[in-house]
Amino acid sequence: SFGANAVPQAPEDPLFGLMAAYRADTNPQKVDLGIGAYRDNDAKPWVLPVVKKADEILRNDPALNHEYLPIAGLASFTSAAAKLILGASSPAIAEKRVCSLQTISGTGAVHLGGAFLSKFYPGKPTVYFSNPTWANHNQIFSNVHIPIATYPYFSKETKGLDFEGMKKAISGAPERSIILLHACAHNPTGVDPTQDQWKELAEILKQKSHFPFFDCAYQGFASGDLAKDAWAVRYFVEQGFELCIAQSFSKNLGLYGERAGCFHFVTNPGTDAETTVKRIASQLAILQRSEISNPPAYGARVASLILNDEALFKEWEENLRTMSGRIITMRDALKNKLQELGTPGTWNHITDQIGMFSFTGLNEAQVLKLREVAHIYMTKNGRISMAGLNTNNVEYFAKAVDKVVR
Ligand code: PMP
Repeated sequence: SFGANAVPQAPEDPLFGLMAAYRADTNPQKVDLGIGAYRDNDAKPWVLPVVKKADEILRNDPALNHEYLPIAGLASFTSAAAKLILGASSPAIAEKRVCSLQTISGTGAVHLGGAFLSKFYPGKPTVYFSNPTWANHNQIFSNVHIPIATYPYFSKETKGLDFEGMKKAISGAPERSIILLHACAHNPTGVDPTQDQWKELAEILKQKSHFPFFDCAYQGFASGDLAKDAWAVRYFVEQGFELCIAQSFSKNLGLYGERAGCFHFVTNPGTDAETTVKRIASQLAILQRSEISNPPAYGARVASLILNDEALFKEWEENLRTMSGRIITMRDALKNKLQELGTPGTWNHITDQIGMFSFTGLNEAQVLKLREVAHIYMTKNGRISMAGLNTNNVEYFAKAVDKVVR
């Protein structure tokens, strides 16, 4: 028999545990800076106006039914998703070097990629993550039995990129390693390489025949500009890399619970690229079938409508600028408040960092103190979700930070 009573208790997921603690707190001044989900200036979830429109269109469509999607998902969605990340005029798309499967959002895409690499990547590769990285990367790749290592990423001194450390570790990794890269708006630090730094990284990855695995969870959400946020991925594709991409629509379309995402595999240019990609797609389909059979329809339908309609797409770009703009405004407000208060330390990193998160530099003791005395909730590593700040609480937060660092 199994002896099921021998199964040990697993720890609670730290982030979802933090959310539960926040919900249980009855103090009216409480501030949620934990989960990475966009909030409006009233700290409320925001359904993008363009998503409301798409929803309306779908609900009024008499032809809509609840049939299964194909194994690879909704084709009008996956093809538009590929264009979105690679660029509509990408030679990789024109040369049919891309295969795309709809996944259970970004998480499912990382997992499908991990499962595929675990089964087919030659040798026994190690996957290298930035230190720190999105905590789920560790569990996902462990679950598919790919050994894990890290490269330095965040400099505690500058609260920016440890570029030298990063380069050294990636060039010191065994040839043909898998290098996981955040396409933009690095989670949890908010620190991205510059375009020149990406070029240097591409050179190193090429020399070492490493395999880039891009995780792209914030396209358009980071800068408000879809092309700018996809720059690194497009540059690597231009350089002829064979690579894969995990793409999420959770943040940029605000479709968190609908689980809309995509996994793309791009092969390098070559005479048999098209057949290679077909074989890869066939294997991905088997993995997908055994795990989820076929992906959920609703979020993909919403995304497909928006991505394939010129007017809706334009409106989406406006919505993206609303979200990224509010976050950038909050970065300015927080930095200015802290500087006004003369809070010990430097705070430029708040505005240098980009995207959903800021790595504040607050230590665990300070984080716990903020929770205890000010009812402010953030992860123990000092990461704050910028979207949790608004014009009503930014001063309260800055003053609380000022108190705990003194
Ligand atoms: N990768 C990174 C780096 C992320 O920050 C996230 C969202 N927290 C994801 C992947 C996946 O999120 P989702 O499954 O909601 O798309």
